[in-house]
Amino acid sequence: MTSKDDIGGKVAGTKQYTLISQLILSFSSLLFFVTSPLYAGVDLTPEEQTFIQQHPEIKLGTDLSWEPYVIVGQDGSVSGYDAEILDAINQVTGANFSLVTGSWPEMQRLAQERKIDGLSTGAPIEKRRSYLNFSDIYLTLKKAVFVATGNPKEIHAIQDIDDKTIVIQKGNLADIELANQFPKSKILLVDTVEDVFSALSAQRADIAFGNGATLYLANKLGMPYLQIAFHLDDQLDLVFATRNDWPEAVSILNKGLAAIPDHEKVRIQTKWFSPQVRPTSNLESGGLLYLSEEEKRITNKTPNLRLCIDPNWLPFDGFSSSGNHIGVSADLMKLISQRLGITFTLVKTDSWSETTQLYRQQKCDLVTTITPTKERSQYLNFTQPLFSSPLVLATRLDQFFLSDINSVAQNLHAVVKDTAAIPFLRSRYPDINLLEVTSDQEGLKLLSEEKVFGFIGSLEVIAHQVNVDKYLNIKVSSTLPDSYSLAIGVRKDWPEWVSILNKAIHSIDETERQQIYNRWVGIQYESAFDYRPFVSVMAVIAALGFLLIYRYRVISSYNNKLRILNEQLAQQATTDQLTNLPNRYLLVQEMRKEIAAAKRYQDPFSIVLFDIDLFKQINDQFGHQKGDEVLQEVSLIMNSLCREIDILGRWGGEEFLLLCPRTEINGALKLANKIRLNIHKQYWQADAKVTLSAGVAEYSQGEDYHDLLKRVDDALYIAKNQGRNTVVCSDPPPISIPK
Ligand code: GH3
Ligand code: MG
Ligand code: MG
Repeated sequence: MTSKDDIGGKVAGTKQYTLISQLILSFSSLLFFVTSPLYAGVDLTPEEQTFIQQHPEIKLGTDLSWEPYVIVGQDGSVSGYDAEILDAINQVTGANFSLVTGSWPEMQRLAQERKIDGLSTGAPIEKRRSYLNFSDIYLTLKKAVFVATGNPKEIHAIQDIDDKTIVIQKGNLADIELANQFPKSKILLVDTVEDVFSALSAQRADIAFGNGATLYLANKLGMPYLQIAFHLDDQLDLVFATRNDWPEAVSILNKGLAAIPDHEKVRIQTKWFSPQVRPTSNLESGGLLYLSEEEKRITNKTPNLRLCIDPNWLPFDGFSSSGNHIGVSADLMKLISQRLGITFTLVKTDSWSETTQLYRQQKCDLVTTITPTKERSQYLNFTQPLFSSPLVLATRLDQFFLSDINSVAQNLHAVVKDTAAIPFLRSRYPDINLLEVTSDQEGLKLLSEEKVFGFIGSLEVIAHQVNVDKYLNIKVSSTLPDSYSLAIGVRKDWPEWVSILNKAIHSIDETERQQIYNRWVGIQYESAFDYRPFVSVMAVIAALGFLLIYRYRVISSYNNKLRILNEQLAQQATTDQLTNLPNRYLLVQEMRKEIAAAKRYQDPFSIVLFDIDLFKQINDQFGHQKGDEVLQEVSLIMNSLCREIDILGRWGGEEFLLLCPRTEINGALKLANKIRLNIHKQYWQADAKVTLSAGVAEYSQGEDYHDLLKRVDDALYIAKNQGRNTVVCSDPPPISIPK
């Protein structure tokens, strides 16, 4: 097995482990539901039991189109919240309540004429008491104020509504009446419920009224980009109603309702009202997203959009050497283009500043990886963000970790021109001393060359660039309170495109998003605990506590990301990719340390430089790939023969350097010969001609590592001249050891 496979093995191992533990978890939760009865039965009176026997089916009428309470399938089957609650009641009581559907007025008439046994999905309206009994409340719907995801206008309470635009579907008299309570607000009347959602997401309106079913509907229409800003006092209680000459029916319903445990009620509620529900579309087969007629008209009219990107912002955004769009955002835009059936024409720029100029002049229709700011919104509308990236301060290695950059704000910090970091920084640290540069590359170069104190930018982009340019003196010293939230900017005069793009963005699920991120950022993060279902259930009670925990988790997840990135950088910077041995950089560091120790403690210290003989021939004869394998094998054999305290590394090409701390020349000579003989023997047995030559030298006081290396290299040269497969000692004059 090669060292490379080793790395792969570790990664695969971790994945496997997570998968297995997930399997165990889901299996055990399954087991829990199978083996434990869902909930205990209820005590029924003899009258109730007799009633159930005499009434094998109790039919409740409900509205045909009242999703998600009642959903009528194409085969006529009824599902939805009400059906599932009734099922639960049936399970605990042994009764059989079922739903029949039709128009609501007709259902009321049938109930009145006792052609059906009662109603579902209705309010306890007094005048119905003449013929119906009402059960306890099975669901309370609070009227809520809805806003676009992210709550761009920061609407949190009644007083925030005053001067806002409220979008309402025509004919919704209750909402119009409600809106009239805010005399300073404007009302935008639209035809369909889809228009309500798209007005919100394109920010043509600021709020809409709705309730729990609104989120369901938004998801179903593939437009789930809205959220509840706050709840109003208005509420609607839903009850079951049964004919009032059947008192047992209502008491059975109430006992059943009371016996359903809270967690089960919450589960059912989350299942039907959760914002997590995604529209079932034909996306699996790579098909198009469901678009309304108006949206189709727009995408057909302009099927090709001009796209500007940040040319220097990998792993998020950049150009390949052949001029193609690459990075996280390129993959996402590809999905968006497939789902909307549109294409993009890439507009080439050299810097983010140039991109900024072009979108201002409307020379591009869309801009990727852009953080919404006030200044930019003069020129652009923004979609929902696709990603966020923490803003961090990079400094040189010797800087301590800073919890707050205020104390160093006076120092010179590089930041890329026209980025959102600039207004963030200026408002938070008014005294900050900024040097605007054209790219992250330039900023990090200045930092590495000690021309600036720090560079401020995206964590992932800095990590990527430090990796590419192999900066060994740069680290991340602080996480700033702001982060980039990467959205797509849309030219200001095309607001209708915002909701279309949002629709496509929301069709990209978390797994796809994570896969794309991992592909470019290349690190498997532990996925943090998913708080979202939790939030929808406990929002009010836990809001404060949750925010604290969430904030903590966000910070610790950033720190974790930082740690992993830093470890990965350190590892990559010091390890040879082919053999997984220490690379030349690390060897030099270690050699300097050993020389310092040898000087101080007068300890002996020796080194051996190995070179594979006639390696060029191996490449020429068997190919470069085989050559690589030989390098990996030889390094493994050599490593297995070294002692714990020795350090073997790849010096370059087919040369390996062995550092032998606290070892005199004779010890090193013996070890070098043992390695030479072993390689010779193993390959000779396999009928392959792989041998090594080596030079050995012991450190002599007063030398620096260049001197020591020169001597060992000279000895190796002599070994080659003596016919190869030989070890030569450099102790002047060089002595040849017989084969
Ligand atoms: P000598 O016995 O004098 O050392 O002969 P040699 O052929 O080993 O020496 P030379 O320096 O002429 O050739 C070294 C060869 O090693 C040339 C180069 O293509 C090959 N090489 C260097 N690095 C790698 C590598 O990572 N993989 C492979 N497959 N070949 C490499
Ligand atoms: Mg060589
Ligand atoms: Mg060689």
